[in-house]
Amino acid sequence: MTMPLTPGAYVARVTQQGPCCPVCQQDTQLLYDSPSMEGPTILQEAMCPACGARWRDVYPLSGYVLYALDDVVPTSGYVMHTSMVSRTDDPRPVDGTPGGQRHAPQT
Ligand SMILES: [Zn+2]
Repeated sequence: MTMPLTPGAYVARVTQQGPCCPVCQQDTQLLYDSPSMEGPTILQEAMCPACGARWRDVYPLSGYVLYALDDVVPTSGYVMHTSMVSRTDDPRPVDGTPGGQRHAPQT
């Protein structure tokens, strides 16, 4: 059994060479779900069909890009295309089955 990359090694590998599986390190046919927000963090479910590993890529908030100050929208009548609800405690299990195991947070 191959040891998974440490989070630091994984980030370095992905930054330098592109996405890969943190377990078997193959980089083709990786499957990604839509990113989701948890507070200031973006999480993206990922899966490697080669070894069956599943993980969540974690993207911290690293800054912001402000639109021009004259590029404002009316405070009334503005409709967000996606709701901006923070989901710090999303009870959905990772595999979508009731009572399924949640992934332990990365430390
Ligand atoms: Zn893999």
